[in-house]
Amino acid sequence: MLKILNPPYIKAHYPYQIIVSGILIFFCFQLSAQEYQTYKAKKGDGIYSVLKQNGYSYTESLNQFIELNKSKLGKENALIIGKVYRLPLKTDTIAEVQKIQAKIEALPEKTVYEIFGKKYREITIKSKELAGAIYYLESGHGGPDPGAIGNLNGHILCEDEYAYDVTLRLARNLIERGATVYLIIRDPNDGIRDEQYLAPDKDEVCYPDNEIPLSQLARLKQSTAAVNSLHALNKKKFQRLVVIHVDSRSEKENIDVFFYHDKGSNTGKRMANTLKETFEKKYAEHQPNRGYSGSVSDRNLYVIKNAVSPAVFIELGNINHTRDQQRFINPDNRQAVANWLRDGLIDDFKKSIK
Ligand SMILES: [Zn+2]
Repeated sequence: MLKILNPPYIKAHYPYQIIVSGILIFFCFQLSAQEYQTYKAKKGDGIYSVLKQNGYSYTESLNQFIELNKSKLGKENALIIGKVYRLPLKTDTIAEVQKIQAKIEALPEKTVYEIFGKKYREITIKSKELAGAIYYLESGHGGPDPGAIGNLNGHILCEDEYAYDVTLRLARNLIERGATVYLIIRDPNDGIRDEQYLAPDKDEVCYPDNEIPLSQLARLKQSTAAVNSLHALNKKKFQRLVVIHVDSRSEKENIDVFFYHDKGSNTGKRMANTLKETFEKKYAEHQPNRGYSGSVSDRNLYVIKNAVSPAVFIELGNINHTRDQQRFINPDNRQAVANWLRDGLIDDFKKSIK
């Protein structure tokens, strides 16, 4: 039970706040050491005359003067000849400190998730636009099952590795925007990879850390159970399941990213349509002459049918088609797909909370 309650990743707060407070303390120390003007009391001096001589308003600065120098004052706040007294900060210095404090408060939160690998483990939260949204991201296959297999330039392309890399990139994108993300299929040591050819392995596990069985039905049941137990813990919150696969068709069949939803889920259908519209817009913007033929349809698929959360099932392309392969092989393209999915999901979230 405890395991299920664990946060999605091994999480450690970046010691950013500590460093920043350190800087502030240092800055204040600098002020106290250098920037307070001081005054050495002579015979006949009193607080009133010292403040007045140095250009302060007695009524505004008296309390501050006493506070700064309380250990050095004599009876009834008399000045003691030869002692050095601090003069209150002038208002422009105070304004400077306030400015620095405001900047520190505005600094973004940073978190670390080891699952994204060395290069991508640190995440700066860029916005809170997905605050309150919970996503279960599930890449297809994994463990003993590589899914569809393609070939390119003597390399074997395994569906599970490419789907996983896009899913990781999407997860990171959503966390950056304030979402809570659970990765259902997890590889403890792959992280986000910037290589073209992603080496296949079999050490993926199912959330939280269960070995993935070989039988297809057992595998689908396992991941769906993981999603549904998390869904039960997050009752009444905004929850969505996003399943990412790569299709396998004949070498001649070129397909664009397309979307399935469960027949009974209007929410899933709306999410699928929103994602498709996002891809239409993005392609029109970035490759105006290309055209985009992605589609939305319902399909009887175990995971999206049996998951309690509204779900979308995404096919990234045909692992056997040369043009589609570029969508997975090039890490920039994998990132672009993840970015477009993020933008579509943000749009879907905004529509849902209206
Ligand atoms: Zn698949």
